[in-house]
Amino acid sequence: MTISGKMHICRAYGCNWRINEEFLMCYKHWQKVPAVLKASIYATMPKRGELPSIEYARTVRACINAVKALEYPAPADVSTSAADQLEGLSNADDR
Ligand SMILES: [Zn+2]
Repeated sequence: MTISGKMHICRAYGCNWRINEEFLMCYKHWQKVPAVLKASIYATMPKRGELPSIEYARTVRACINAVKALEYPAPADVSTSAADQLEGLSNADDR
C-alpha cells in the first residue's frame, strides 16, 4: 500500500485525530471495529482513482456506528438506534 501523505480526520464519532487518508480511523478506534466489519472494509475499499461504492459507504457507516455504540452506550430504556441500524445493515449485506 502506498502512503499518499494526505491527511484526514479519524471517522470515529467525536475523534479529531489527524491520520493518513489511507486509514479510516485512528489506531485506537480501528481496534474497536468488529473483525467482520474490518474484513468488509478491506473487501469494498475503493482502489486508487476509484469512487467509493455504496457498499463501502455503508460499511464505513456501520463501523462508525459500531465504535460509537461501544464508546457511547445508549441508556437501557432508550431505543438503541445505532445497534438497530447496524443490525439492519449487516442483514442486508448477508442476504
Ligand atoms: Zn479516532
